[in-house]
Amino acid sequence: LTYSDSSPLRSILHANATHDSDGNPIRKKKVVVLGSGWSGYSFLNYLNNPNYDVQVVSPRNFFLFTPLLPSVTNGTVEARSIVEPIRHLMRKKGFEYKEAECVNIDASNKKIHCRSKDGSNLKGTTEFDMDYDILVIAVGAKPNTFNTPGVEEHAHFLKEADDALTIRKSVINCFERASLPNITEEERKKILHFVVVGGGPTGVEFSAELHDFLVEDVAKIYPTVKEFTRITLLEAGDHILNMFDKRITAFAEEKFQRDGIDLKTGSMVVGVTADEISTKERETGKIVSEPYGMVVWSTGIGSRPVIRDFMQQIGQGQRRVLATDEWLRVEGCDGVYALGDTATINQRRVMEDIAEIFSKADKGNTGTLNKKEFNGVVKDICQRYPQVNLYLKKNKFKNIAQLLKSANGEDTEVNIEKFKQALSEVDSQMKNLPATAQVASQQGKYLAKCFNKMEKCEKKPEGPLRFRGEGRHRFQPFRYRHFGSFAPLGGEKTAAELPGDFVSIGYSSQWLWYSVYASKLVSWRTRMLVISDWTRRFVFGRDSSS
Ligand code: FAD
Ligand code: MG
Ligand code: MG
Ligand code: MG
Ligand code: MG
Repeated sequence: LTYSDSSPLRSILHANATHDSDGNPIRKKKVVVLGSGWSGYSFLNYLNNPNYDVQVVSPRNFFLFTPLLPSVTNGTVEARSIVEPIRHLMRKKGFEYKEAECVNIDASNKKIHCRSKDGSNLKGTTEFDMDYDILVIAVGAKPNTFNTPGVEEHAHFLKEADDALTIRKSVINCFERASLPNITEEERKKILHFVVVGGGPTGVEFSAELHDFLVEDVAKIYPTVKEFTRITLLEAGDHILNMFDKRITAFAEEKFQRDGIDLKTGSMVVGVTADEISTKERETGKIVSEPYGMVVWSTGIGSRPVIRDFMQQIGQGQRRVLATDEWLRVEGCDGVYALGDTATINQRRVMEDIAEIFSKADKGNTGTLNKKEFNGVVKDICQRYPQVNLYLKKNKFKNIAQLLKSANGEDTEVNIEKFKQALSEVDSQMKNLPATAQVASQQGKYLAKCFNKMEKCEKKPEGPLRFRGEGRHRFQPFRYRHFGSFAPLGGEKTAAELPGDFVSIGYSSQWLWYSVYASKLVSWRTRMLVISDWTRRFVFGRDSSS
């Protein structure tokens, strides 16, 4: 065996050795991970394979627990309490970390180009290249402005820890400014007009947090200006929280109404200047401009520039989001994986593969599947195509045999036409996974587990299903398990949508939310800090210094 020989057998034999049988050092495969967020951190956390030389590149030397970020904007939780330094994990795992941003991926030469960030006391940047054998892209996404003029310049985003701190300072500055003498009433109203753009979970939660702050704290500390404050939530669609159950949307809209949050649906922002925000009303087509003191922009996410370039390179230029297969391998290049918000899984349609599925299952080439053949193939289909289970559930079929019976009657043999007919509707249940921490962290864990048994599986490639490839596949495709979503609505009320069509709204869900998030906080350190922040808030109220 030569040094360059990378046969899987050899790596198994020498799984823990640093030298091969000839005394040559084994070159470990170099895995470069981009990003230290939900997906990247989770991948690194579960990766336990001594055969990899792992290098992490991220401009941020910490993991950020984003679900609690809106609570940082009003001081319920401190920013420090929801970050976890990446260096702790690096030391524990023996990985290497570089604080830099990847600015270019050269997939054909398996190289990346990186740039360090401008530090506060270190002016200028440093650039360097890195080689990789395997690249794991977990860079997340950037806020999407839809090219609305003035947004980059004048609005705040709520994505990073710094954003939350800036928002917090800005809110308090507005109140201090409004409390100064020689400010006209009109100006005071303008300064204390807070506008939130986007009725998704983040926009809604931020509005609720801001409202709580106004009611519970501002009323006491700025009693003279309280009456001038106003919160407006702008949403282009018909409803806020439209990804949630209708009951939750209705409850949230009603609650906001009662709280006096000015909810404007059907109004799309067309521009932001230093003093005014302009919206186009969908019904009338009229453009309305209103003065504001602060705007927070939270309308969704888009691909980062480095990913857009990369997509051009690998022939995905026409797509909106980077596509992977169900094993999280980037389509169109070799040795590159992508997970989290930066990518979507390009799920295959059953109907595209149906002829192939049928012929593989039809062992004797008889043109029909008997009961045994049919049952054999069904299990694989359910595993490979998640839309099948969703379809069965939606239509209240206990299993796929029932579905077939509805198409095939009492016949025991099924031909291709009946087979197609039975499955003809299942693809309608395909949907992309949401861009959430839940998905990102599950993908990180999944990929780490694949990497942990990579050598064993390389012998039997992770390829497609039994009936499509040779032998049994070792890697299951990625499967998402939904554990429910929460939408904190302020005033100690949280809406929870749990699996099994269970919706709960109120105080009990608030406590469920506290306990779920406390249990998900990555380390005992952050857990302690957040719980003490919560306690402090209950006892002493929020800190209102900027
Ligand atoms: P991120 O977690 O964003 O991580 C990206 C990482 O890549 C960061 O470390 C970043 O510094 C780094 N990076 C960026 N550019 C580069 C580059 N060029 N090179 C190298 N590294 C780079 N989801 C839920 O499930 N529940 C919630 O309650 C919830 N609340 C949220 C609240 C807020 C305010 C926000 C903003 C998001 C919330 N989310 C929530 C969504 C969740 O945070 C994201 O889905 C999740 O962070 C996606 O993980 P990721 O690893 O893809 O990206
Ligand atoms: Mg990440
Ligand atoms: Mg994160
Ligand atoms: Mg994704
Ligand atoms: Mg047959």
